[in-house]
Amino acid sequence: MNCMVCGESMGPPQRVNLPYRSLPGVLLVGIEAQTCAACGEIEYAIPGIEALNKRIVQLLVRKATRLAGSEIKFLRKFLGWSSKDTASRLGMQPETVSRWEAGTQLIGETPDKLLRMFVIHGQPVESYDLEQFDEVAKNEGEPIHLELAADQGWAPVAA
Ligand SMILES: [Zn+2]
Repeated sequence: MNCMVCGESMGPPQRVNLPYRSLPGVLLVGIEAQTCAACGEIEYAIPGIEALNKRIVQLLVRKATRLAGSEIKFLRKFLGWSSKDTASRLGMQPETVSRWEAGTQLIGETPDKLLRMFVIHGQPVESYDLEQFDEVAKNEGEPIHLELAADQGWAPVAA
C-alpha cells in the first residue's frame, strides 16, 4: 500500500488503540495502522464500521446516566436525523438540541428517554414525516377520527 498523501510506500501494519473520532470516550482497541516513513502520515484500517456503530448504540441506550452531548449527536446521526429533525421529533426547540450537543445544557429526562426509544425501535427515517410532527405540535388535541374496515384487516377506509 502506498501513502495517500505523498505516494511513498507505507510501513508494516501495527496494532494500535485509536480514540473513535465519531464519539469521544470510545477507544478502538487493536486497530491496524500503517505509518509512512517519508511524510509521517498514518492510515488506520477500521473493520466493520457499521457493526461498530451498532455495538456503540446498543451500549449507549443502556447507559445508566443521562446522555452526554457527543452521545446525543452520535445517536441522532445513527438515526439519520438533522438537528432540526431531532428538535421537532423530541418536541424541543432547535437551540435546546444545540445546547445539549455542545454540552452546555443537560438533556432532560423525558427527551433522553424518548431519543433512546426512537433508537431502540429503530424506525426508519421515512416513517417519521417531519411535517407531520410539526402538525402534532400545532394541534389542539382533538380526538383522532378513524374508519377501519373489519373485512380488510382493519385497513383505513378511504374517505
Ligand atoms: Zn507519505
